[in-house]
Amino acid sequence: MKSVPEIFGENVFNESVMQEKLPKDVYKSLKKTIENGEPLDLDLANVVAHAMKEWALEKGATHFTHWFQPMTGVTAEKHDSFINPTKEGKIIMSFSGKELVVGEPDASSFPSGGIRATFEARGYTAWDPTSYAFVRDGSLYIPTAFCSYTGEVLDKKTPLLRSMDALSRQALRILRLFGNTDAKRVASTVGPEQEYFLIDKEVYEKREDLKLTGRTLFGARAPKGQELEDHYFGSIKTRVSDFMKELDEELWKLGILAKTKHNEVAPAQHELAPIFSTTNVATDHNQLTMEVMKKVAQKHGMVCLLHEKPFEGINGSGKHNNWSMSTNTGVNLLDPGKTPADNAQFMLFLTAVVKAVDEYQDLLRVSVASAGNDHRLGANEAPPAIISMFLGEELESIVESVIHDEKAKNAQKTKMRLGVDVLPEFSKDATDRNRTSPFAFTGNKFEFRMLGSTFSIAGPNIVLNTIVAEELERFADELEGASDFNGALQALVSRELKAHQRIIFNGNGYSAEWEREAERRGLLNLKNTAEALPYFKAEKNIALFAKHGVFSAREVVSRTEIMQENYNKVIAIEAKTTADMATKRIYPAVNRYIADLCETASRKAAYGADVETDRELIADLAAKNANMYRAVRELVALTKRAEGEEAEKASKMFAYEVVPAMNRVRAFADGMEELVAKEFWPMPDYVDILFSVE
Ligand code: ADP
Ligand code: MG
Repeated sequence: MKSVPEIFGENVFNESVMQEKLPKDVYKSLKKTIENGEPLDLDLANVVAHAMKEWALEKGATHFTHWFQPMTGVTAEKHDSFINPTKEGKIIMSFSGKELVVGEPDASSFPSGGIRATFEARGYTAWDPTSYAFVRDGSLYIPTAFCSYTGEVLDKKTPLLRSMDALSRQALRILRLFGNTDAKRVASTVGPEQEYFLIDKEVYEKREDLKLTGRTLFGARAPKGQELEDHYFGSIKTRVSDFMKELDEELWKLGILAKTKHNEVAPAQHELAPIFSTTNVATDHNQLTMEVMKKVAQKHGMVCLLHEKPFEGINGSGKHNNWSMSTNTGVNLLDPGKTPADNAQFMLFLTAVVKAVDEYQDLLRVSVASAGNDHRLGANEAPPAIISMFLGEELESIVESVIHDEKAKNAQKTKMRLGVDVLPEFSKDATDRNRTSPFAFTGNKFEFRMLGSTFSIAGPNIVLNTIVAEELERFADELEGASDFNGALQALVSRELKAHQRIIFNGNGYSAEWEREAERRGLLNLKNTAEALPYFKAEKNIALFAKHGVFSAREVVSRTEIMQENYNKVIAIEAKTTADMATKRIYPAVNRYIADLCETASRKAAYGADVETDRELIADLAAKNANMYRAVRELVALTKRAEGEEAEKASKMFAYEVVPAMNRVRAFADGMEELVAKEFWPMPDYVDILFSVE
């Protein structure tokens, strides 16, 4: 048996493999490319490609694939074998620099939001050397960005890399102001905590809704859910721990820093958290983690559900996005540090984040909007749909004293002088208490808790990086021109914290008062995806993305359309699946049970038995079944109407008409499920599903 250090990264073309397999000068140039984002010339690419291929062949690979992240939210790959025919009728295994650096998948079937006319249907993929290539299932995977020939981006990686560049540029300007001359790059870092459900494959196969939509569209609540709180951190069942063990190993082989695993709150729910890395790598690794989870589950006769809300009545799944900024010399910029000078710098970065979150609440909300996540946000199991920040008591009192600089005469409440006072070290315990906050400071990073479990973390981090870059740019502009740096810094921090104090909220985010209070403060409360998405293309947001070179105006508009269309399609599929299951499975099953009851009742009556309750049940079920039938017809008609509208109007119709109509069908069906004999119910119920893995 190999040890963990031996298997870690064994399928990755990483630093140490490169050092071993590449000529020294090639390795050096490649490193330069990786660290400074310099272009790679073709001669060099040829050498790298050859070494990569030789290494991949040793690992048993026969194919290579450019691996990219189109706007579908999942990854895409097209595999080509290394074979190349010779004159002798044989083949050699070859892989050129050109094949490494660019690929041309047929892009016409990926969503582009109208960017790509059919005559320019081709797109190309370009190697992203900042993310290592790896071998998986017999293929060499090359992480790539995906663009159209007109230069517009068609994926999630390119804008993420652009947003990281923007953040780096502006953060370096700030660092220089504090006398830091050695940092060459600032990268945002992310550790995403991934929640998921595991259920038995056999029950899954019998649920049309799970198969087609990823969530149950029907299902009366099980007598036992999560009320006993006996699952959270509970001991892990053998089948699940076998799965987790194999999952860890598979992830480690791919160089993914899988660290923490435990049972979550709901039955059958679990979590995996990796150690954080740079955002680009964290994004690739999280996509891979989700894929590997599904595959490994299959091998264990289970299905891994990544949907945000697979089951009614128990918690859904999210993904906490732990975010910070770090220099290439290893300094975490959201760590308060130990000296007053560090603290002043920390306060400036903190202020930038506070201002960014307040001014671009809408963008952060858009970045976590999806049909699946609509079930969680604001539903008292996840953060509300309102964006606010939690800083923790200590930090908030510091913010208060900075804001009330002149007024803080009270001896108890010493006023804070940036660059003079020393900030306390914030322990995670002291800052982590408010689990209801969407955006919480947790000692040396922020935890953005609104992401849904299926999300690519690219979107939210593109927004985070860009909005913080924007504020840092404005701060740098102001401070670079100041004659008295410390005075100007103090004034800026105090002024901005005061101006954006409304976004800070330490109370219970689940409470009804908070909704009212947030409204008084003028904070946005975008309750669903249909409400949120149009904000993406607000003028101020288009200007922001264009200014930092992250998205062009056209790209923002096209992305809005893609998200709207996706939302509409998801709800339409759910509505159609609801109608299908109700009509073809539930309605006839209930009728069969009614017929059985009638038969039994008439026989019982023949023996003089009292059939009063049978009559009641028959009448009740017949009425409910008829009501469900009518509700289905209404749902079908509403879906058809919504599908005929243009995207933005359609999405409102889906949110406000189709979704409620779907819920009405479900209410009738679930009501009947509680009354119908188990042997007649046409699919596994919540007990069968949620407690299917022993
Ligand atoms: P909890 O569940 O209490 O929030 P976890 O330890 O499960 O805590 O998750 C915390 C996550 O935050 C981990 O993925 C961790 O690597 C990550 N993290 C820690 N420091 C940073 C940082 N500076 N930048 C980004 N992520 C970080
Ligand atoms: Mg967490």
